[in-house]
Amino acid sequence: MKLLVKGGTLPEYGRADMLVEDGVISRIEGNIECEGAQVVDAEGLYVMPGMVDLHCHLRDPGQEYKEDIVSGTRAAAAGGFTSVCCMANTTPVNDNAVVTSFIINKAKAEGSGVHVYPVGAVSKGLKGENMAEIGDMAKAGAVAISDDGKPVMNALLMRLAMEYGSAFGMTVFDHCEDSNLVNKGVMNEGYNSTLLGLRGTTRAAEEVQIARDIVLSETLNLPIHICHVSTKGGVELIRQAKKRGVKITAETAPHYLVGTDDLCASYDANTKVNPPMRLASDQEALIAGLCDGTIDAIATDHAPHHRDEKEVEYNMALSGISGFETAFALCVETLVHGHHMTMEDFVKVACTNPARIIKKNCGQLKPGMDADFILADPNEEWCIDARKFLSKGKNTPFHGRLVHGRVKETYVGGARIYKD
Ligand SMILES: [Zn+2]
Repeated sequence: MKLLVKGGTLPEYGRADMLVEDGVISRIEGNIECEGAQVVDAEGLYVMPGMVDLHCHLRDPGQEYKEDIVSGTRAAAAGGFTSVCCMANTTPVNDNAVVTSFIINKAKAEGSGVHVYPVGAVSKGLKGENMAEIGDMAKAGAVAISDDGKPVMNALLMRLAMEYGSAFGMTVFDHCEDSNLVNKGVMNEGYNSTLLGLRGTTRAAEEVQIARDIVLSETLNLPIHICHVSTKGGVELIRQAKKRGVKITAETAPHYLVGTDDLCASYDANTKVNPPMRLASDQEALIAGLCDGTIDAIATDHAPHHRDEKEVEYNMALSGISGFETAFALCVETLVHGHHMTMEDFVKVACTNPARIIKKNCGQLKPGMDADFILADPNEEWCIDARKFLSKGKNTPFHGRLVHGRVKETYVGGARIYKD
């Protein structure tokens, strides 16, 4: 089975043809002729690796009214993702090999073709008390461990998780928020929270825990991955740690690059997310962090919810944004059209670096890599319409926004799984 992608523009190569044989990229050259190959016309389009999402919630098993593996992987394909890592806060919690295997098997049997890599829980039931079946989950195919959504408040448990996880080649994906300091806050603490009469969460809640886990990582000489960094101070802590050689990686999410707590003034609960959207100065620091390598990756934190969980008072609403289908446009709009980075730089943070963090043979277009790629038009203008999402979660604060950059086709292992 041969596939020839002709006439597109590729990162590093420029205008080139790409030949795929048996699901793997075999050649990339200026002009390839290949008899018998199926030809994909990529004229005028950008050909790039499929994006690798280190952080999403597929809600399956148990919360299929929000999302399931079928709808979630279809939405991921439409968003230009070819690999996604799904968090453990399902029902039951993915804290054992049975649930890990269920997710992997269902994704293979019924999913859109996007690779689904489960992230196992750190603690049983996400309760922060006893360690989950980390070794069993690793053997079943989990790629990392995290109690995402429930910060690991017990530093000894975090230490043990880092030690035990690393023995199985798994890094802790660390949702950094000190729950005591969060203190039931629902948005960023500052001028806007005071103005709106909503309870604020201090940025220190995030930074205290980033600092703690940098100290653990440095002391133990073990890797740590910081999830969804949202503050300027968080970026600076990570930058300094990297300079000292700490084995730390980090991600941020598109909504932190695009939104600030000004959006909360609508009282639209679709703006409610953990950690909360911050200030313009934080956005600038996050973008600078992505540009200088402090922040390794962009991850969506795709968190679909049912409308009944969002169309309520701000204080009562659940946190999270449905992010798969807007990530590419929001990032390209902000980072590339905003003149902070080139498409090649964007590929590094959206594809290459996250693939490296979970040690998968993708995220780059070069011979020998899996043929997981997308065709995209970085300039196409369109209007975000949540009603058209393939995700069951329509919860986005970016509905109605005019953006530039659209995913046209998605391929996994050389097979097309999505066409716009
Ligand atoms: Zn989280």
